[in-house]
Amino acid sequence: DRNADSEGVVVIGLGRFGSHLAESLNALGHEVLAIDDNPQQVQKWSAQLAQVAQADSTNGEALRQLGVADLSRVVVAIGASVEASVLTVLALVELGVPQIWARATTTQHAKILEAVGAQHVIFPEAETGERLAHLIVSRMLDFVEFEGAFAIAKMRVPQPLVGRAISEAWLLNRHGVRVVGVKRATEDRFHYVSEGLELCPDDIIIVEGPIEQVQRFSTLT
Ligand code: ADP
Repeated sequence: DRNADSEGVVVIGLGRFGSHLAESLNALGHEVLAIDDNPQQVQKWSAQLAQVAQADSTNGEALRQLGVADLSRVVVAIGASVEASVLTVLALVELGVPQIWARATTTQHAKILEAVGAQHVIFPEAETGERLAHLIVSRMLDFVEFEGAFAIAKMRVPQPLVGRAISEAWLLNRHGVRVVGVKRATEDRFHYVSEGLELCPDDIIIVEGPIEQVQRFSTLT
């Protein structure tokens, strides 16, 4: 059995997005095989990444020769050329790669990638834009949402809660959210809140709940 966690990851397309991804995977301790058809990109990234190959990723045979078929996770990070992105995903499907992550740049592009057989379609511009919208209009410091319904957010303590002891039942009942973590001004990491903890003005908290409620909670005055 292949152990997916310790195995390498293939990143195809070393543009802005792909190169950041490859660097992050590398920093997390994963072996990265990076592929790009542009000799200048290959040259540029060879110094930073252990394995960089020059190849046209729409060519299945070229991918096979690089050993891509033996790795279980491949990310297609090509954005600008929809044709190259789709043909690459198709070549990977034909090679039998089990986990194909593909980057879409438009909604139509995303639909095609799904139809062709990519298991995970990522849409960084849309996802970042949505997330940023929440961060800009609310007082949240960080925000993750799941299936457009549930969220976990980092925020300052809303004014009305300063000096109040946290009661989980009261919070759920009154605001529909749960405070799961707190970081005091003097601390450098979050810890779980215990029932009855009193919140201070400079505390940063982690709140979870349905998106609307988390959003409303963050803007309480
Ligand atoms: P970004 O927006 O992240 O900069 P781009 O779409 O501009 O993304 O860059 C994608 C990268 O993918 C480029 O470095 C380009 O050379 C590479 N690329 C495009 N087509 C192919 C292909 N057929 N095979 C391999 N690499 C490709």
